[in-house]
Amino acid sequence: MDDLVSGILRDYEKIWSLHQAQGLMGWDLETYMPESAAKRRGDAFAQISLMEQAIYLSLRDRVYKLEDSQNLSDLEKGIIRQLRRKIHYFTVVPPELIARLDRVSAESTVYWRKARKNSNFATFRPYLSQLVEINRMIAEKLGYVGNSYNALLDLYEEGLTIEDVDRVFSKLLSASKDILDRVISDGYYSSKHKLEGKKYNIEEMHRVNEEILDLLLMPKERFRMDISTHPFTIGMSSDDVRITTRYEGINFKASLYSTIHESGHAIYELQIPDEISTTPVWGGVSSGIHESQSRFWENFIGRSMSFTEIISPILKKHLKFLESYSLEELYRYFNRVNPTMIRVDADEITYNFHIAVRYEMEKQLVAGKMDVSEAPEVWNDLMEKYMGIRPKNYAEGILQDVHWSQGSFGYFPTYSLGNVVAGMFWDSEDFEEMIRNREFSEIKNKLYEKLHRYGSIYSPKDLLARTFGESYNPEHLIRYLRNKYLKDQ
Ligand code: MG
Repeated sequence: MDDLVSGILRDYEKIWSLHQAQGLMGWDLETYMPESAAKRRGDAFAQISLMEQAIYLSLRDRVYKLEDSQNLSDLEKGIIRQLRRKIHYFTVVPPELIARLDRVSAESTVYWRKARKNSNFATFRPYLSQLVEINRMIAEKLGYVGNSYNALLDLYEEGLTIEDVDRVFSKLLSASKDILDRVISDGYYSSKHKLEGKKYNIEEMHRVNEEILDLLLMPKERFRMDISTHPFTIGMSSDDVRITTRYEGINFKASLYSTIHESGHAIYELQIPDEISTTPVWGGVSSGIHESQSRFWENFIGRSMSFTEIISPILKKHLKFLESYSLEELYRYFNRVNPTMIRVDADEITYNFHIAVRYEMEKQLVAGKMDVSEAPEVWNDLMEKYMGIRPKNYAEGILQDVHWSQGSFGYFPTYSLGNVVAGMFWDSEDFEEMIRNREFSEIKNKLYEKLHRYGSIYSPKDLLARTFGESYNPEHLIRYLRNKYLKDQ
């Protein structure tokens, strides 16, 4: 390795240590932290970000010097590219703004939680206003080509633009609408299911989830699962990756698929080579690519007939009320299609409409074309436009997601990209055969070969070009949906 790069990596270990602290603090904030701690936790986050900023800036001259160097390996180039992005962020975004984002979002998450519980938008509105304003200011500082929202998209998915997202949605949404209409008129997947609204025992469901983790060969010594309202995955390094799942005591599939989804995220991080664990190229390459892994396991694998067949005995062992249900009835429950209010419970077809709603809103909010006070109504109008349903209260409308309260704008579109890229993976091998044969370790090997082994050495667009020879192409997902739900070829 280049001497200058080695020196930079030694200094980077300080940043890596701060990430460990931030990671654990963030994990704790979402799981066990007492509510009153939110404000001080926010202050601590802000201080750590400032420390991080100072260290990044101390690397600036050395990183700039290497930028045009011709003799670097792909790994070294990746390290420099990732550092360059961070240094740019910390150079142009002033410390006060970084600290303000940390403080407001830590506090806001707690107020959002209360607001959602009481379905009271008014208590969350001032936080949303501030977070939109902060994001708008950050976008201006970062700079962009075309629309300021591009600067925010790039934070989560390097190089992504409104044009890319519009291109994906223009094909995906019209195809999804067509598939949805036909599925509803056919009735097989869309008709009401007896298991909906069925209560379950949380301890029993927890045992199901633990057996699912065993089935997916999750390594216990490097991995753990806890509980939170909004499930998430956090990886500190390849030997400490954590997920959460959720238990509402009703509709067991929500808990089951949260566990599989987050396991998909975790498998990605667990399989990134340990040698790069303390470097800037450890971790998933982008939010969209990360989501491709979780959606791949959750939907393409987890909701397939073969997987349903594999897990059916586990489910029936712990959830006694399932005893009389046939395999096909279980499969139909897992794949029930119907337009609903809540994104996290949405089926594979309507899910992308939920994302389109948030994407339209973010574009307007960030561009200042919509005032935060109008946002709940705009949300409801968009739900009606895309799915023909209208939320009756804020909790099932604008207050349902945690993301904005955490200060994330530009993140939502990566969920649909995740579905799109998962479709590209699905088409690249005979995974169906591997599921049938229970070859989960073989599936992991394939994902390792195509993606996990690279960490974030390549940008998302470069990586897709390298692995698939094309960029975010929704045709694969559309084909998969047609095959599954319409039996079209
Ligand atoms: Mg996810």
